[in-house]
Amino acid sequence: MPEGDSLHRAAARLRPLVGERVEASSPNPRGLATNVARAVDGRVLESVEAVGKHLLLCFEGGVTVRSHLRMSGRWRVRERGGPAWRGRPWLILATPRWEATQWNGPVLKLDDGRASRLGPDLLADATTVEAVVARVRRADPARLLGDVLLDQRLVAGIGNMWLAEVLWQGRLSPFLPVGRVTDDELGGVLRWGRDSMRAAVAGARPPRAVYRRAGRPCPRCGTPILSRGLGELNRTAYWCASCQRGP
Ligand SMILES: [Zn+2]
Repeated sequence: MPEGDSLHRAAARLRPLVGERVEASSPNPRGLATNVARAVDGRVLESVEAVGKHLLLCFEGGVTVRSHLRMSGRWRVRERGGPAWRGRPWLILATPRWEATQWNGPVLKLDDGRASRLGPDLLADATTVEAVVARVRRADPARLLGDVLLDQRLVAGIGNMWLAEVLWQGRLSPFLPVGRVTDDELGGVLRWGRDSMRAAVAGARPPRAVYRRAGRPCPRCGTPILSRGLGELNRTAYWCASCQRGP
């Protein structure tokens, strides 16, 4: 699943098209079936925003397209008039100068309002860490910390990789009930996550300490890193049982 920072990078690539009227087409039949091209063809693209794990493209007339890329989806942008595309993009948005293409879906649709039910985007300028901590406190205190931080209704933008890294940084186990974590500890992991994801938007991802490093030594204490399924969606958590507090 793409993390919040990779969606922010995709949004930045698409920004040159903002303010332009687009010609839209869908060479790929699965893309065509979404009806997105027909709905946006000839409209001005007013804004592109990464909200949590969704990219929202807002067109004139209140038409919004929601794109959730998961693992396989990609947005590419290039100057118009290059060689023909190899393969069939789901969606092409063309302006006189630019050509943006969306590949492999897998979620490309006219917005049904679901994005508005997401929690605050950790990377948004308007989001404060204090507000996110207060919102996370609404969760059942018995829920596991890792599960709560992945819950996009509480805070949007943290995926599996960043979850593992922020909790290692904050020395907290993903299996700790959230009720046993202090506001300071929560604020600390969220602040580190926000700052690191912002740096990653600018192109600097920190080296991974634990994510997909099961069995290898913890960079802090040398204990082998563990991995196990976590929460309702059974995502894989990675953590060091020696230097991260909790079960
Ligand atoms: Zn350790």
